[in-house]
Amino acid sequence: MADIDVLGTLTERDFLAGYGEVAKYGLLGDAAFFAWLEENGPGLAAGDAGLRQDAVRRSVQMKADIVMRDETEQGDRALLNLGHTFCHALEAATGYSDRLLHGEGVAIGCALAFEVSARMGLCPQEEPSRVRAHLSDMKMKRDLSDIPGELPGADALLTLMGQDKKVVDGQLRFILARGIGQAFVTGDVPRAVVQEVLSDALRAG
Ligand SMILES: [Zn+2]
Repeated sequence: MADIDVLGTLTERDFLAGYGEVAKYGLLGDAAFFAWLEENGPGLAAGDAGLRQDAVRRSVQMKADIVMRDETEQGDRALLNLGHTFCHALEAATGYSDRLLHGEGVAIGCALAFEVSARMGLCPQEEPSRVRAHLSDMKMKRDLSDIPGELPGADALLTLMGQDKKVVDGQLRFILARGIGQAFVTGDVPRAVVQEVLSDALRAG
């Protein structure tokens, strides 16, 4: 399988960045897959080819299923953007430099999306904690403080999020979650909650 051969040639940092997108699939739609990653992620990162193949196969399958479902039931494809509104703002804030690779931004963005979900009472606080614990087990970036250098404040980050192309009629659309594996699309997210989560995350550094 070509994807697996490519994985073997990546630096550890690039590999873990790619893993951010793999973990995203579990987080958005398959709690059992996420639990599997919690169990097998470290072995997979250490180079187990069989585990890597299983993880990539499951991710590719989920993407195909979501894209197919999207053709009949509108909007499911948007779930693939879990973590990406935060990610795009962070990529812009770091000048699309190697301070932050795309997949690293996705991982941090997923953690922030779960944090916003918990803050809104959509899921228990255990869920974002579990996301961050897994990223920690994987030795991945998970907090804003893991990004080297200065970041702009919460307001500036919110402005950058507003420049994301997925803004509809000035309303930010988010992918939030009712739990691990239960993501959904919503335009109903108070700006103040996102600002508070970003402020807290910046302060935690
Ligand atoms: Zn992406």
